[in-house]
Amino acid sequence: MAFEKIVKPYIAALTPYKPGKPIEEVERELGIAQAIKLASNENPLGPSPKALAALRGAIDTISRYPDGGSFRLRTKLATILGVAGEQLVFGAGCDEILELLAKVFLGPGDEVVYGWPSFAMYPVVVQGMGATPVPVPLTQDLVYDLDALLAAVTPRTRLVFVCNPNNPTGTSVGAEAFDRFAKALPPNVVLGIDEAYFEYVQRKDFPNALDWVQRRPGTVVLRTFSKIYGLAGLRVGYGVMDAELAGYLERARHPFNVNLLAQVAACAALDDDEHVTRSRDINSRGVAYLARELAQMRLRTWPTDANFLLVDTGAKPGVCDALLRRGIIVRPMDAFGFRGAIRITIGLPEENERFIKELREIWETPK
Ligand SMILES: *Cc1c(COP(=O)(O)O)cnc(C)c1O
Repeated sequence: MAFEKIVKPYIAALTPYKPGKPIEEVERELGIAQAIKLASNENPLGPSPKALAALRGAIDTISRYPDGGSFRLRTKLATILGVAGEQLVFGAGCDEILELLAKVFLGPGDEVVYGWPSFAMYPVVVQGMGATPVPVPLTQDLVYDLDALLAAVTPRTRLVFVCNPNNPTGTSVGAEAFDRFAKALPPNVVLGIDEAYFEYVQRKDFPNALDWVQRRPGTVVLRTFSKIYGLAGLRVGYGVMDAELAGYLERARHPFNVNLLAQVAACAALDDDEHVTRSRDINSRGVAYLARELAQMRLRTWPTDANFLLVDTGAKPGVCDALLRRGIIVRPMDAFGFRGAIRITIGLPEENERFIKELREIWETPK
């Protein structure tokens, strides 16, 4: 069977997404114990105890299909966000919302504009529909260049993604620049604002993206339970949008895309503000600690509004592998065009300290 003759050429051209290595895999491959993973922006405190208790209570019911409409989660979240239930679309991670947007709006000839380096799934979902990715370089300070994004919009542009704060740089855009951009974007272009790290944001002038959902019908805000809520393994995220637009995504969605346990855990996690606050606090203290230590080592970092830091370790090649051999999994950034840079997820205080200790030793070892 000559698959290559019948496979869609734009699928054949994709490179499979490379996630952060799981801890078990690193321990097995290197024959080490006590590896720590600071590579996938997961919550180091884990899920809320309330979510865990709810999961235990629901485990016996998994012979049933989940509620295809996520009714409880929808009702609860709509109240919290101050939107109508019909404005929410749930997915198996917010990755699925990105994919639904692609499915609804894209085909060969269509273009999608986004900043780059940014979230690796944007080109994947765009190319997966045979559409054309239009990556636009970040500014010198590694911030989304909103003017350049506007300039890249053509009559073929269907979607624009703004990742705020941006993964993998941690940088964010403020309300003034964002509002100017949203106002100037042609109304027939769908604007996807990826706020996967929204709950970590520290800057005071962060844009109110939900406001724009009400003001501008073609606006979608993407959020997830994978990051601060600590439920990455269950896969649940959502989009907030105009109810009519939500109706199109609902047509394209699989009926039971969000599993039963994910719905139960997400509902319970929304009841635990204390866990969110604790997670945010431990993160901001971790950011401050790591930024200070890295500055002492004269390593460049960028201001972050998320739960990770981009670090320029380019002066010493092989830092990522050296860390891995010492049981610390971070994310290499070479594939994003940041040669020698790494992205480190903020961990527990003892994990951050171990990272700094190992990095210092690597740094002080002569080449
Ligand atoms: C992690 C992440 C997501 C999606 O995560 P899901 O686990 O699919 O919900 C989306 N956008 C960005 C920028 C992310 O970092």
